[in-house]
Amino acid sequence: MDKLLEIKDLKVSFFTHAGEVKAVGGISYDIGHGEIMGIVGESGSGKSVEAYTIIGLLQSPGKVVGGEVIFEGENILDYTPEQMEEFRGNKVSMIFQNPMTCLNPVYTIGNQLTEALLCHKKMEKKVAWDKAIEMLELVGINNPDKRMKQYPHELSGGMRQRVMIAMGLICDPMLLIADEPTTALDVTIQAQILELIRKLQKERQMSVIFITHNLGVVAEVCDKVSVMYAGKIVEQGTVDDIFYNPSHPYTLGLMRSMPRVDAKEYERLIPIEGNPVDMLNPPEGCGFGARCEYCMNICLRKEPPTIDLGNGHRSSCWLLASKLAGEANHE
Ligand code: SF4
Repeated sequence: MDKLLEIKDLKVSFFTHAGEVKAVGGISYDIGHGEIMGIVGESGSGKSVEAYTIIGLLQSPGKVVGGEVIFEGENILDYTPEQMEEFRGNKVSMIFQNPMTCLNPVYTIGNQLTEALLCHKKMEKKVAWDKAIEMLELVGINNPDKRMKQYPHELSGGMRQRVMIAMGLICDPMLLIADEPTTALDVTIQAQILELIRKLQKERQMSVIFITHNLGVVAEVCDKVSVMYAGKIVEQGTVDDIFYNPSHPYTLGLMRSMPRVDAKEYERLIPIEGNPVDMLNPPEGCGFGARCEYCMNICLRKEPPTIDLGNGHRSSCWLLASKLAGEANHE
């Protein structure tokens, strides 16, 4: 599959009074045209920072300190602010986690939806208005003519999220970044929104980066998955690799802490013990070491290598390295 986006060894730090926080510590992955990549990890793992960097919305004191973000062959980190604005309006867009903080409370839905079309697509007002109504219909909002004249507080949570999706799609982006788009919604609306994103992605052959902490959501919508921990990708592969053949202890821990329909009646969920890494004072070696039941001496001293398990399935863990070395010694 043709690559639309390639992230190469991306590093992002926040320079705070207390010191440097390495929020993203050298991650690499690629996404093909029409592919959906899920980025999974707990809060503070760096998944949203990475997304904000791709869309050019990283704010001070955050700074890209290394790597490249290649979109259609061009490193967008070299773009001028004007090029970036053009890129953001026409090629990539984002659905944010909380629509109430992203929709402007003093403008009507119609104003906010048509703004991008007037600015980026240079459409006539009437054409933009009609297109916005069409988008509201597409995302399943009833009575769109009325909704266009309403303010965000007049809509329900599910409807506001649908408006956010309409805003994300209105300029026909090639890449949509959805940052926890269903977290604040109840499960029925969540299922509807996921189905909607999947349907629209198929119809438009759009690529999607789906950021979530919910593995169930990943199984539902994604083709590939990157599991992030402490600013690094610790495992990546297809959805089948991650769900049927997980190899990193953190991914295994996520699986065990997730409810399953095939679980036995009294089977308990097992949480991952311990706390996330203090990113101001990260440990030596493997970031997951303090919480890992398989931790070895080397894990606390040296960063684990990334092991290629074949067909794009990769995992960064000393356990795999020693297992492979052991197998090689026995050959
Ligand atoms: Fe656990 Fe060591 Fe693997 Fe880290 S490198 S996940 S501490 S076994």
